[in-house]
Amino acid sequence: MQRSIIGYCQDDAGDWKAELDCGHFQHIRHQPPFILRPWSTTPEGRESKLGQTLHCVLCDEGAFPPSFETYKQTPIFDQNTIPKGLLRAHSTKKGVWAKIVLLEGSLLYTIEGAPPQSTTLTPTAHGVVVPEVEHHVASEGPVRFYVAFYKKPSSPEQSPHKE
Ligand SMILES: [Zn+2]
Repeated sequence: MQRSIIGYCQDDAGDWKAELDCGHFQHIRHQPPFILRPWSTTPEGRESKLGQTLHCVLCDEGAFPPSFETYKQTPIFDQNTIPKGLLRAHSTKKGVWAKIVLLEGSLLYTIEGAPPQSTTLTPTAHGVVVPEVEHHVASEGPVRFYVAFYKKPSSPEQSPHKE
């Protein structure tokens, strides 16, 4: 999945990583002759690549960004009160992840695509919703569930500067 570069940071070894709009980070090392990214070595070069896209394997794998925090949650729905919008293909916005959490029963969760991928969610198997990826749910009988939305923490803790 292609994701836009929204910023940069360095790992403990000083290697540069790009921050993507999905919440994942990806190394952008310049290692000639194997990987040629001379742009990653200068502030101007990195600046020039803001907004460009990289292929995010972690999104393909549905890996939930560990630093993301929940900021909104739906009411609890059951098989009779599932909003129609959830039964049709829909997606979250850029940078918004969600978890479909079951309290009871089961729910069929389908990620659109060719072919669509369906899994049955249960109280021990929640669904991960990847930003901007179309999906829908279908009732399979009695169920109680809610959806929790996650985004990047709005005021990330600043690591104190070393003097
Ligand atoms: Zn990603």
